[in-house]
Order: sequence, then C-alpha cells, then structure tokens
Amino acid sequence: SSTPANALTGPRVTVCVRKRPLTRKERTAHNRDIVTVNPADGALFVHELREKVDLTKHVVTHPFTFDRVFGEQVSNSIVYENTAKPLVDTLFAGGRGTCFAYGQTGAGKTFTMAGDGTENPGLYTLAVRDVFDRIRAMEADEWQFASEQGIDDFEPSDPPQVWISFYEIYASRLQDLLNRCAKLECREDGNNQVQIVGLAERLCEVEEDVLDCIDEGSAARSTGVTGANDDSSRSHAVFQIELRQPPSTSPPLDVHNAMRERLLRGGRHNQGELQKGAEIGRLCFIDLAGSERGSDTANSTKQTRMEGAEINKSLLALKECIRAMDKRKDHTPFRGSKLTQVLKASFVGKSCKTVMIANISPASCNVEHTLNTLRYSDRVK
Ligand code: ADP
Ligand code: MG
Repeated sequence: SSTPANALTGPRVTVCVRKRPLTRKERTAHNRDIVTVNPADGALFVHELREKVDLTKHVVTHPFTFDRVFGEQVSNSIVYENTAKPLVDTLFAGGRGTCFAYGQTGAGKTFTMAGDGTENPGLYTLAVRDVFDRIRAMEADEWQFASEQGIDDFEPSDPPQVWISFYEIYASRLQDLLNRCAKLECREDGNNQVQIVGLAERLCEVEEDVLDCIDEGSAARSTGVTGANDDSSRSHAVFQIELRQPPSTSPPLDVHNAMRERLLRGGRHNQGELQKGAEIGRLCFIDLAGSERGSDTANSTKQTRMEGAEINKSLLALKECIRAMDKRKDHTPFRGSKLTQVLKASFVGKSCKTVMIANISPASCNVEHTLNTLRYSDRVK
C-alpha cells in the first residue's frame, strides 16, 4: 500500500480519449465507424468522408496524439486503472486530483463516470472501492507492525475519514444533489479559499454509504429541478471525495452515530455538529455538460441560448485553467466561470493533478462534434 513516488510530482495534466462502440441506432442508420485508435502510441485517426461537387467521395484523415487512447472494447476498469487510479495515489499522498469527462451528449461521459448498472461500475465506484481498500490496508499494516514490534497493549489509531459531496452546476447556479437540489452559494473567504456554503457533506464509514450517495445524487441529477430528462446534458456534475484526518477528540460512538443518522437523512451539514479533521487530500470527478451545448445559439429558446453561452464560457475557462496548470503558470484564470471558480483549489497549488477523459462517438454522423472534442482536448495539453 505504499504510495508511488510520482503521486505528487511528474506531469500534472494527462489527456486521454475514450471511443465508445457504435450504438444499435447508429448501425441501423448505416453509420460507419470512422475512428481508429492505436493504444500502443496514443495515436488516433478520424477518417472524414467528404463528397466532392461531382459526387465522388474521398476520405480526409485527421491525425491526433494523446497520452492514452481507449478503444471501444476497453472496460471501465481498464479506463480506471489508467486514469483515476493514479489520482487516488495523489489523494493519499496529500494532494488534489481531478478527473473530467468531456464530450458531446451521448459520447459516454456518464457511462464512464457513473457506470451502467451494478455489473458495470464507473470511475466513481471504482475509486471509492480503492479508497476503502487502502484504508483497510493501512489498518492491517498497523496491526502487523504492532505485532512485529511485540506491542501487547496496542490501540489502533482512528482511520482517516471519507467525506462525500455531490452537486451540480446548472447555468451558473450550484445545486446540491445530496440535499434535494438545494441552491448553494459559493464565496471566497478572507484566506482566498473558495467555500460552498451549505453544501451537504456526508461522512461515509463504508463503501456502501458512498454508493448510496452516488445513487441518490445520480437520481437527483437525471430529473433535475425542471423535471426534464435531458437536463443532465446542460449541467456539470461534481462528485467529491475528501479524505480527512480523524478529529483529535472523537465524540462517543453513540452520539457520533446519531449525528451521522441525521446527516444521512439529508439534513444540512452544520459545521459545529460533526467534527471534521484537517483535510488530507481531495479527489473530484466532473461529468461535464455536453460540449455541443456550448454552441446552442441558433434555433433555440432564450433560455437554452443563455445556458449555451454559460456552458461555452465554462468549457473555455476550464481549458485555460488546465493549460495554466500544465505550463505551471503563476496565474490561473479560475474566475472565468463558476465551474473553474468552485474548482479553484484543484488548479492552484503544487500538488494538484488533472486527468481529462475526452469521450467520443465513432459514428460518421457525429464527425464534426468528434473533431471539435479532439481539437479542444488537444489544446488542453
Ligand atoms: P453522455 O453522458 O456523454 O451523454 P452516456 O454515458 O449517457 O453519454 O452514453 C450514451 C449511450 O452510450 C448510453 O446508452 C451508454 O450506455 C452507451 N455507452 C457509452 N459509452 C459506452 C461504452 N464504452 N461501451 C458501451 N456502451 C456505451
Ligand atoms: Mg451524461
């Protein structure tokens, strides 16, 4: 369970691409798979079919290279091993890890992050399992050490705490997915720390507690405030795992459980109610709004145009912040959008790492969105 030496050093930004399989609907509509990947060297090619004026067809091939490329056969667990798992190392080493799923609606962002049913867990669940496995390994290690040292009256130390929050950014509003979509405010305090006031934070003692949070938050997300089903394509969902030191003086067990019960019932977290220890590290997963929504400017209602402009602004600001991180610039333009503002702590600081997973469709009908996604991701680096 030792932490790899590069958990806090090494490249800060990793950009990967994941291609999903053609859907049945796309096959039925005679779409071709126009994307080829070469996992060995991170190369990816988009073969664009064009028709000339004389109706003859020709192919234009667009080459790209990324840190990693995943083909349509690659499972969520393989994607996890190569993307978010190193961020769990960062979390335990005291850093801040962030993993983004970027791409057009229907490209596989939620499939990657939240998974597809219990047989096919996504990165949220796989990371949570890893976190609890590592805590158990730390405890086992401590017992082993004590027995090797022949310590008879050994008292194991309290394990680190796992705190979960889950919220979404819809237009520039924040809403709490673990508290009936309650509106949240974000403020910068006197120490230049961004705080989300009133955000529900749940102390989870076992993996199942977190899985309940994921289910609850995902259900809240899919219906949203308006009750419309495609709301999720217009919001960024932020799932956050915070690892904290156990508080120095733990409250008695029964009181502790009572407080925890209250939190689990969805009550707002009250700072004084449950003791939180100092932050060790933080891991965020962001299922971004559909990238095509940023160009929802024509033929739409005033509402969607405004939302589109906001999404566009946030995705551009995100690109700039990640670039600034990668190039180790002094100035990070996190104030450019609500998204980048709430993630400030994950961009600014020496021990921050980011992984971007660009999700793409292989279908010929999506070629433009696919090229847009790849060009965006290419510029992040
Ligand atoms: P997004 O969240 O980007 O809008 P989804 O994750 O909802 O897209 O994916 C759209 C559809 O494609 C879903 O039916 C999903 O199950 C399927 N899908 C996405 N990625 C994969 C994959 N890698 N393998 C199999 N099916 C996938
Ligand atoms: Mg989705």
